[in-house]
Amino acid sequence: MNPTLWPRLLPPPQRYAALGEPYLVPVATTPLPEVRLVHANVALAAELGFDPALLETPAFVSLMAGNAGWPGYPTVSSAYAGHQFGVYVPRLGDGRAHFIAELAAENGQRWELQLKGSGRTPWSRFGDGRAVLRASIREYLACEAMHALGVPTTRALALVASPEPVQRETLETAAVVCRAAPSFVRFGHFEYFYYLDQHARLAPLADHVITAHFPQFADRADRYSAWLGEVIERTARLMAAWQSLGFVHGVMNTDNFSILGLTLDYGPYGFMDAFDARRVFNHTDETGHYAYDRQPFIGHWNCARLLQATLPLLADDAERAVEIATALLDRYAGAFNAEMLRRWRAKLGLRQARAEDSELINRFLDLLHRSRADFPRAFRWLSEVRSADETAPRLRDWIADPAAFDAWLADYRVRLRAEHSDDEARAAAMNAVNPKYVLRNHLAQRAIERAQGGDFSEVARLFELLRRPYDEQPGMEAYAEPPAPDAVPVELSCSS
Ligand code: AMP
Ligand code: MG
Repeated sequence: MNPTLWPRLLPPPQRYAALGEPYLVPVATTPLPEVRLVHANVALAAELGFDPALLETPAFVSLMAGNAGWPGYPTVSSAYAGHQFGVYVPRLGDGRAHFIAELAAENGQRWELQLKGSGRTPWSRFGDGRAVLRASIREYLACEAMHALGVPTTRALALVASPEPVQRETLETAAVVCRAAPSFVRFGHFEYFYYLDQHARLAPLADHVITAHFPQFADRADRYSAWLGEVIERTARLMAAWQSLGFVHGVMNTDNFSILGLTLDYGPYGFMDAFDARRVFNHTDETGHYAYDRQPFIGHWNCARLLQATLPLLADDAERAVEIATALLDRYAGAFNAEMLRRWRAKLGLRQARAEDSELINRFLDLLHRSRADFPRAFRWLSEVRSADETAPRLRDWIADPAAFDAWLADYRVRLRAEHSDDEARAAAMNAVNPKYVLRNHLAQRAIERAQGGDFSEVARLFELLRRPYDEQPGMEAYAEPPAPDAVPVELSCSS
């Protein structure tokens, strides 16, 4: 590697890896045969400091596959635990992920690069340490689609594929996603040490997170509560962002919750087409534990688990610690409600805040739910309503109860006129927050099927499309359509 062409590694003492054992252990990646680059994220690579010419080189592909290491950075995997579907699992950890570098970008931003699917680790249990191409494409595209939607998320730098067979429900092939984020620390990293009764291990981890990612709190006497309060609020705002996009994460275990409030670990997720408040994409989630309408509650529950695990940091006196934690948890509802209302108002094109808005929003969502109306398109088409002209917008044809819709529409128009809403300005503002293009499951599925046949062009096309989700993108309208009514729904499970 020519060091001038590659991004700069963070100096060793500043690295997450400097925490060492038992937080992280050195573990080598397991090479894959005949690796091919499926896609590289040129824009992110440039932001991280990669010379663009490197992305086509065998050295880059080897690095992204885990077939070669980054000179000066021994690969590591981390220990974590987590509550899965409400049940505590004491030992999870990076069972198929390796950190391959920690970078200092030109703008001073820290980035960790992590391969997913790069081989077994001490946390693999019965797993093979691999990820399949299908799930890797879904994660790769979702990271960047979410980012383009303006939602905090881990990013994706590159995707490589190998013909290596991998057994899931059927025999599939292996792939590796290189993810990038300032940090991959999860709520479950703290739970791991708390439930092992190794409470003295919490502070070094928290101190690293604060120094590296919340430096604004580093010098405060109440640094732990200041930091946790911020995590609670970020998590609340993230849940509001998911709700506003009709995004269902699918596996909201505490080991999949980021200490930075990022969307993390894309598995059986989905962006809703037909709006159903009870929607579940993960067909193994039979009770709807992580259904769309439970996400805000689960976010709160997970914050409670994080606060439980960090009680020893909050005060020496146990009762006092619980008091502080309770006050911190109370910040969730305020942060969620404010952000949720702000987002729904923006989606409806309301500039002012009025007391009757919640009811207006809920009635609209209820109409969409009862009609199973296409979620992205309903909001996009709502922008066509004129405040003074009574012509029925085309959205009306998609609503199962036209009389109720007409009544709602009359109230909506009154509300718009009350704030002297300008039709054109409102439509532009609404289209800047209501995406035309989202990663619908049937679109991802088509890209997956082509890629499984060796053609990666549809992955690239979706990648480009989803970078500009709010733009009209003439010629791409078919990608804004809901799936055909007779289409067989894509079955999703945790298997990845
Ligand atoms: P996930 O469902 O991807 O969030 O993973 C949950 C836990 O299972 C984590 O500890 C993963 O590292 C581990 N895991 C999932 N799939 C595999 C695999 N194929 N091999 C090893 N560990 C895995
Ligand atoms: Mg996970």
